[in-house]
Amino acid sequence: MSMLNRRRFLAGTGAAVATSGAVAALGTPAAAAQPAAAAQGASRGARITTVTPADPRYVDMVSGSNARLVGTPEAIRVPANTQEVVEVVREAVRDRKQIVIRSGGHCFEDFTFNNEAEILIDLRLINQVGYDDRRKAFYVDPGATLLDIYETLHSGWGVTLPGGGCHSVGAGGHFAGGGYGVLSREHGIVSDHIYAVEVVTVDKAGKVRAVIASRDPKDPNRDLLWAFAGGGGGNFGVVTRYWLRTRGATGAPENLLPRPPSTVYYVQVGWPWEKVTKAAFKRLLQKYTEWSRKHSGADSPYTALGHWLFIQHQSSGPILLVGQMDATVPDARKLLDDFIDYLSAAMGTEPVWSDIQHLPFMKATTFGTTAGEPLNNPNLRTMHKSAYMKSDFPDRQVEVLYRQLTRPDYTNQYTYVVLHSAGGQINELSATETASSHRDSHLVIFYECYWHKAEDDEKNLGWMRDTYREVYADTGGVPVPNRVTDGCYINYPDKDLSDPELNKSSVPWHDLYYKGNYRRLQQVKAKWDPTDFFRHRHSVRLPGKR
Ligand SMILES: Cc1cc2nc3c(=O)[nH]c(=O)nc-3n(C[C@H](O)[C@H](O)[C@H](O)COP(=O)(O)OP(=O)(O)OC[C@H]3O[C@@H](n4cnc5c(N)ncnc54)[C@H](O)[C@@H]3O)c2cc1C
Repeated sequence: MSMLNRRRFLAGTGAAVATSGAVAALGTPAAAAQPAAAAQGASRGARITTVTPADPRYVDMVSGSNARLVGTPEAIRVPANTQEVVEVVREAVRDRKQIVIRSGGHCFEDFTFNNEAEILIDLRLINQVGYDDRRKAFYVDPGATLLDIYETLHSGWGVTLPGGGCHSVGAGGHFAGGGYGVLSREHGIVSDHIYAVEVVTVDKAGKVRAVIASRDPKDPNRDLLWAFAGGGGGNFGVVTRYWLRTRGATGAPENLLPRPPSTVYYVQVGWPWEKVTKAAFKRLLQKYTEWSRKHSGADSPYTALGHWLFIQHQSSGPILLVGQMDATVPDARKLLDDFIDYLSAAMGTEPVWSDIQHLPFMKATTFGTTAGEPLNNPNLRTMHKSAYMKSDFPDRQVEVLYRQLTRPDYTNQYTYVVLHSAGGQINELSATETASSHRDSHLVIFYECYWHKAEDDEKNLGWMRDTYREVYADTGGVPVPNRVTDGCYINYPDKDLSDPELNKSSVPWHDLYYKGNYRRLQQVKAKWDPTDFFRHRHSVRLPGKR
């Protein structure tokens, strides 16, 4: 972890910087007085860093955490602050270049690393985290990564965000798309806490400027904030700063974001897959769903438990429960043990091993977000899909999952169907409060596959596609919003959703991600990116465009 990442700034106490005309044209008077650049990194010389194919760094910078996706931009621009982003975008507009945006580089699809983009804007140098006293909100820059964010918020103010479980995911894409983690049942998703956002936009005349949009009811730009709170990255402009404050929170900084417990029980429990019969597998899914539904209210004591149930391919080892329980709630350990016993009863077998550690919050977070090869090896090839669930698993889905997860002709140590219990605080907001519309599911399913070699692409992509298509065969091969399923998660983008061979439903990819919020997102697009300058395979389209 670099010193640059670790450094913490208090906005308002730093030296003032001169602002370019573009940045001074911010959306609110307060914003004009305090551009994000005041606390961001200085440029590393007269010029913005530019990496071209001849540069030794190029090969490193044209891919992210999915080695299957490699870009071919003619240049990578590495701005260090908002003004530099404005300059880079202005040059791209002038030269009619197609740009793409990278923050943490963890996108599962080719929205950033592809063969069409000419300029890749790499935001990793814009990575500060701190408290902005003027806005009474914490700021997080797009290039900041999750573990750095958690560490800084925790050591500085004793607060945190209910974000994802991988240390190196970037704020840029993660916050815009939602952000689920072990604290989400208790505190919602990260995008629910976004108070304001600074975005570099391009208007109809090609004029580039940084604007600030907040959720204040009087803010004329609040539609842009609405769209960035769950609408996903790469749609409307370049985010150069997020500000976060929990809805309704007031007072000292320590009260403005969730306060994590002092200690948690960090849980890893494994059940012997080979002893889980088909009937027991069915019972497990039934009982797990029942539990998730029963405890989906924000008043359940189990909002204090965040977890993932990893049902990996049977050849790879046990069925794994990984998660954490707030150790400070009454009867915490008993609640946890009861849940583990409940799962054992459902599977009809006892755990083969169980590791429950009582740890300080940040020790557990550091351990959990850095554990295992898939979270650490940027050279893996991956494919991911997702599905929200609203009711029990229909028999046909259980049949397919069991068959695919026990198939003897397929092996991969990193193929999982992950059940992530949702609900709790996540479902306290209405479906239209932010662009994130999935507010009545009790469960999100993540289909995940990681592997090492290109020669295994076909096998793994094939397994993933067959599984998903067959699980959702009754609804055209995708989890359409209906009584049982509820669409897909934009931070788990999946290009197959727009392939007519793989999505035979009448529900287009955008309605799977956004449901009824898509029309409003299109209106925001028309207002803030009327030339469709910011685009990728699944970016929000202008009204009337497909
Ligand atoms: C190993 C791994 C673990 C994960 N774990 C979780 C998890 O626990 N919970 C969860 O919810 N998700 C998880 N994710 C998914 C993650 O939330 C998304 O991949 C997220 O979009 C990544 O953001 P990024 O900035 O790292 O990626 P990037 O690839 O940089 O960006 C993702 C998208 O956002 C756009 N974008 C990036 N920065 C900006 C910006 N500044 N302005 C506008 N658009 C921008 C990009 O163009 C791209 O379309 C995980 C992903 C990986 C690879």
